[in-house]
Amino acid sequence: MPDMPVSKIMELASKGRDDVVRYLQQLIAVPSMSGQEEEVIERVGVLMREVGIRQVRVDRLGNIIGVLGKGPRILAFDAHVDTVDVGDLDAWEIKPFEAVAKDGFVFGRGAADQKGGMASMILAASILGQIGLPEGMTVLLVGSVMEEDSDGLCWQYLVNEERYIPSWVVLTEPTNLAVNHGQRGRVEIEIATMGRSAHAASPEQGTNAVYLMTPVINAVRKLGSKMKDDGYLGKGTVAVTEIISRAPSLCAIPDLCRIHLDRRLTAGETDKTSLDEIRALPEVRAANAEVSIPDYSKPSYRGYHYMVKKYYPAWVLDRDHSLVQAGLRTAESLQGSAARLGTWNFSTNGVATQGMFGIPTIGFGPSEEKYAHTPDDRCPIDHLVTAGAFYALLPWILDGLVPAPPPTESVESADRG
Ligand SMILES: [Zn+2]
Repeated sequence: MPDMPVSKIMELASKGRDDVVRYLQQLIAVPSMSGQEEEVIERVGVLMREVGIRQVRVDRLGNIIGVLGKGPRILAFDAHVDTVDVGDLDAWEIKPFEAVAKDGFVFGRGAADQKGGMASMILAASILGQIGLPEGMTVLLVGSVMEEDSDGLCWQYLVNEERYIPSWVVLTEPTNLAVNHGQRGRVEIEIATMGRSAHAASPEQGTNAVYLMTPVINAVRKLGSKMKDDGYLGKGTVAVTEIISRAPSLCAIPDLCRIHLDRRLTAGETDKTSLDEIRALPEVRAANAEVSIPDYSKPSYRGYHYMVKKYYPAWVLDRDHSLVQAGLRTAESLQGSAARLGTWNFSTNGVATQGMFGIPTIGFGPSEEKYAHTPDDRCPIDHLVTAGAFYALLPWILDGLVPAPPPTESVESADRG
């Protein structure tokens, strides 16, 4: 393996400590709920240009892509720049958009999930601008949108419509500086029962869709106690999260009842297996219920509708895979024996990159899952520096670990330029 610029990268990362704090503060100060990311994307663009990235573009959906290098081997770093809402403001000791840095942390909505990752990516770009990239390597820095509302949608768009097909993806969601290589998936399922309306004064003349649904709900509840446990990714789960009914008036028998299920998928479970499992329930058959996966179709901040099924596959990249190994070696170079391998409890854009497209994907990010979506949202400043060093070092470790294939005339360069 060639000499790795470990000490140079660590030195430049610690020199960038104040800068990375400022990047994160600037990102937090701009509220960016899913579907409202326009201003934060602009801010990311300003920061990317500030650290010397010359090639920066915003795609039609609204993702921002900064490009370093021009080699055929493409390493993409992804940070979704949208956040969830703030909830009860009174619960926040430090207000969500004040972006206060103190006691070794930066506080505010999105600090953990996951503007910290974006701040560290920008620090890494600044470092790579100073030391350069291994030959033959391109690094993409992607600020993606709408993840909190529909994880992976942005990457379905990037791969299917924009034809960005990286060789590797690194998600910068919080991992507490562990190398994560998988997560449970999820699918949303709707079950509908159809009855026949009648005057509520003569219920026997109609068929009550709510009553048709009652045994179905009980069956789903029972199913929840029998879910598969993968041992590594954890248990599948199912929960009824909404129930609605429709009747011509409150004095009429409902002719429609619909329930919504949140189904978390563990290894080996898919959209198909979970639909089949629900459709096979005797109670569902008896009620002649319709079972389906709804679509997600909200517009992006650019007004673009990209419709996807609400299916987010579980994924695990084998721990022996060269990307996982490169991630662990990178972490070991920076943290010594503290390097750890893990998985997420929550969901990420890996559902698309690894789960749908099979693009080798890992995660490494500042802060911890436990702060995500809470009024205690925060990111340790030390993590920002270490993650910045990790993202700058990984291309070098990866290049040393996975030799570039010899150039062949028949294979066209995958470089998008
Ligand atoms: Zn996230």
